[in-house]
Amino acid sequence: MYPNQQPQAYPPMQPNQMPQVQMYPPPPPAMGQPVVVGIQQPLVNNTNLNVCPYPCQAYCGTCQQNVTTIITNKTGTGTYQWCLLLLFFTGCCCIPFCVDNCKDKIHQCPRCNSQLGYFEYKLC
Ligand SMILES: [Zn+2]
Repeated sequence: MYPNQQPQAYPPMQPNQMPQVQMYPPPPPAMGQPVVVGIQQPLVNNTNLNVCPYPCQAYCGTCQQNVTTIITNKTGTGTYQWCLLLLFFTGCCCIPFCVDNCKDKIHQCPRCNSQLGYFEYKLC
């Protein structure tokens, strides 16, 4: 019927295009966020305070010097656990509240009283 039928034109082979990696521009400086200006407090690793139930050497970022912490006892979870345990076994639950060893310890700076660490008393 159509002797001059043109061969079907195939679309040219697409070159195997690599997916274009979109280059994101570096994020613009965050607006609105307060820019911390001034003396940056040195990062102090006071984590040892959290495992130390007695006064320790620590760096106070507020005073910017090494201090020996003072310990403040605080009735913590472990104290209440003791309380329940003793109540269960002995019927008396007031002992842990009198025993400082059964309490959480707050490490405070002796100069500025800021909290430098927290020792959480655990039952086990
Ligand atoms: Zn201090």
